[in-house]
Amino acid sequence: MKKVYIYTLGCQMNKSDTEKIYGMLGHFGYETTKEESDADLLIVNTCAIRQLSVEKAYSKLGVWAKIKKAKAKEGKSIKIALCGCVAQLEEKELIKKFPYLDLVFGTRNIYELPRLLKQIEEKRLCDTKEKPIFENDYKIERNKTTNAWLTIMEGCNNFCSYCVVPYTRGRERSRTIDAIVKEANIILKEGFKEITLLGQNVDSYGKNLEDGTNFAKLLKALDNLETDNNYRIRFTSSYPTDITDEVIETIKNSKHICECFHIPMQSGNDRILKEMNRRYNVDEYRKIVQKIRNSIPNVTITSDFIAGFPSETQEEFLDTIKAIDELQLDYSNTAAYSPRPITKAGKMTDKFIDEETKKARLQILNDKVKQASLKSNQKYIGHTLEILIDEVKDGVFQGRTRNNKVVHLIDDGKYEIGQFVDAKIERATTWCMFAKRV
Ligand code: SF4
Repeated sequence: MKKVYIYTLGCQMNKSDTEKIYGMLGHFGYETTKEESDADLLIVNTCAIRQLSVEKAYSKLGVWAKIKKAKAKEGKSIKIALCGCVAQLEEKELIKKFPYLDLVFGTRNIYELPRLLKQIEEKRLCDTKEKPIFENDYKIERNKTTNAWLTIMEGCNNFCSYCVVPYTRGRERSRTIDAIVKEANIILKEGFKEITLLGQNVDSYGKNLEDGTNFAKLLKALDNLETDNNYRIRFTSSYPTDITDEVIETIKNSKHICECFHIPMQSGNDRILKEMNRRYNVDEYRKIVQKIRNSIPNVTITSDFIAGFPSETQEEFLDTIKAIDELQLDYSNTAAYSPRPITKAGKMTDKFIDEETKKARLQILNDKVKQASLKSNQKYIGHTLEILIDEVKDGVFQGRTRNNKVVHLIDDGKYEIGQFVDAKIERATTWCMFAKRV
């Protein structure tokens, strides 16, 4: 049997693609290896969101070139492939740039890989052509945890001025409710307890199907899967102004959909939001947050922010800090702005903020996020919450609440991974809470 090793960079979507590739290659005579020096096929699944990720991918190719050369001396031939967002952006240029790279394939044709692997026996090639979403019965080699990712849609139509996703993953394409429900039932049968629905903008789900399907209908269907056991459904990410009342009502009335929204705000300043080509202002974002909080008790709302977007003044940056406080966002991912040349913002070179200022703003942002996270965790002291046990570390059982808070169990109980436990929160720190079973 041949062996395959995949080095994955970037977001959950990429990690999920890697699971699909591993699973699919299992049907074509490959087994997974954790040792790159042991592999017959090495694949780097790239991310183009930040320059640092692109450089990591290229540096990995350099390491693999040496492995390939050494194997060739022993008379053994191995293949090196590159896929993901950088493949989609750079395409044939990569084949020119890296002489030892055998194959470049895209984010939108991963199921073409078995055919492409046969073709590279003859010659090196690049194929990044978009293929329609392809439903198949290939097993997905999912990470053995309690949570499984399930892609509900691909691509994005929003063209935020800093983002490469519409270029790398194409326009929105949704899978059907039937296909998603079928996969969700398989996931539960495999023993997973939690399913995270993945889409760049889940609230746009179904729009291209043109049959009245929408995200709320999908959530309702997933709230009624074929099992008597407890399970959880999560989803990410939401676009603020696309979240409908129907989605909020559905979550409020559901049994299995978790009370947790990830709603990237990106900036707390209206002018910067406009420059970012985000289709909302701070007040509209505020109203959505209030509506969700008023409808769904104990809901967690998390966000993403960029520090140092081109032309951002210090005052405008401080509006972001105010927004985190005012909106009581529970947690936020942060990043310093990283220019992507293909995007509109990437071309605003005369307005770029210097690295030192970006770094200083990022530090202030991170400090604010930490404060907000601590405050959010402290709210739950004295509350009894359902924990899904997902890990045991140094003898301590850990899990997550429905609203996605990390909890360490500080009683003497022995639990199973995948067990649901009701526990009372006794204390809280920035990144986790401590609880005892009730
Ligand atoms: S909505 Fe998200 S994925 Fe789509 S362009 Fe904007 S930042 Fe990128």
